[in-house]
Amino acid sequence: MGDTDSKIKNELLEDFSKVFGDNDGVRVFFAPGRVNLIGEHTDYNGGHVFPCALTLGCYGAARKRSDRKLRFYSKNFEELGIIESSLDELTPDERAHWTNYPKGVMWAFEGRGMKADTGLDLLLYGTIPGGSGLSSSAALEVLTGYILRDFYGFDVTNTDLALIGQYSENNFNGMNCGIMDQFASAMGKKDNAIFLNTADLSFEYAPLVLKGEKIVVTNSKVKHSLVDSAYNERRSQCEQALKELQSVVDIKTLGDLSEEEFEKNKGAVKDEICRRRTKHAVYENRRTIKAIEALKKNDIAEFGRLINLSHVSLRDDFEVSCPEVDVLVDAAWKVTGCIGSRITGGGFGGCSVSIVKNEAVDEFKEKLTAAYREKVGKEPEFYVVEAGDGPREII
Ligand code: ADP
Ligand code: MG
Repeated sequence: MGDTDSKIKNELLEDFSKVFGDNDGVRVFFAPGRVNLIGEHTDYNGGHVFPCALTLGCYGAARKRSDRKLRFYSKNFEELGIIESSLDELTPDERAHWTNYPKGVMWAFEGRGMKADTGLDLLLYGTIPGGSGLSSSAALEVLTGYILRDFYGFDVTNTDLALIGQYSENNFNGMNCGIMDQFASAMGKKDNAIFLNTADLSFEYAPLVLKGEKIVVTNSKVKHSLVDSAYNERRSQCEQALKELQSVVDIKTLGDLSEEEFEKNKGAVKDEICRRRTKHAVYENRRTIKAIEALKKNDIAEFGRLINLSHVSLRDDFEVSCPEVDVLVDAAWKVTGCIGSRITGGGFGGCSVSIVKNEAVDEFKEKLTAAYREKVGKEPEFYVVEAGDGPREII
């Protein structure tokens, strides 16, 4: 247990007492957020992704109740106070605010025949900056699932926790996300990234102990409002293109196509925009496979080159970047010690992820801050991140 974990645990136990009266029998849990290194917008196209869990995430202090009440409190939304509900009210409700995430997970468990027989009190504290696109929602879902499994003895694997989390986000919270975020959180492993094939959920861990480099996440601190609608639109464009391609090639997902097969058959996709979306999905998947090979050979320069190409493709073909993040990435590309940089996450704001030589991290921060101040008029925020473990109890 790290210093931070034990410090946060003690604070949360105190907070729990203040909010819920006492902290007898309370236990503290954690589930991580994630950053995706490469393989963006491929997880709903049967492609590969390469995220790692972070040491940042969502902490939860929890205790079973003897009645059917649910009482929630988040230190990230203190102004909302205690939000009360019950096991008999597991339906989405705007007034329930953020508690729709844990309630959605309970609802998804029920749908699989796993019903909690008593309610609980849950106090949360997330260390992921809001709106940064580092998957605080997946962390919260996986955390809830982990606590439910522990408290009620539900027989599910960590992969199930990811699937249940995604199912609840799709069907209870109306966000049509792929499996990457929840999978990365549920299966996180310290010092490793996860090379996941989203077509069949087969995966391997790839050691991510960069000796000479750091992974730097830069927060643009912007989040454009079209993020959810544009996300769902990209999904349907890819689905449309898949249908058209299936009339000429035998594929189940866009992830089945090589670059050559795509180039040969792309004429089947009638709409020019859908064709560009497909090009991204196909090439990005192949880039991700190549990126793992490069990392295995310790060819960090090639890894960085592929990360840069990913950004260009997300910016020009998939069109999910935004001017603010482009400023950060352009400035990063000009830093000699920056090996690769791209937008990460769903897009339209959020963060960039960059691989930066140890000795260049200070210069990187200075140059990006100056460029961002000048062109956007805001201060970016930097997090030097490490690949962390999956969900766990803080003992
Ligand atoms: P992200 O990229 O961080 O997942 P989302 O918009 O998908 O962004 O999810 C953010 C939402 O998740 C918040 O608005 C809130 O409803 C919920 N959430 C995440 N972390 C917490 C927390 N610590 N406490 C309460 N709600 C949280
Ligand atoms: Mg999310």
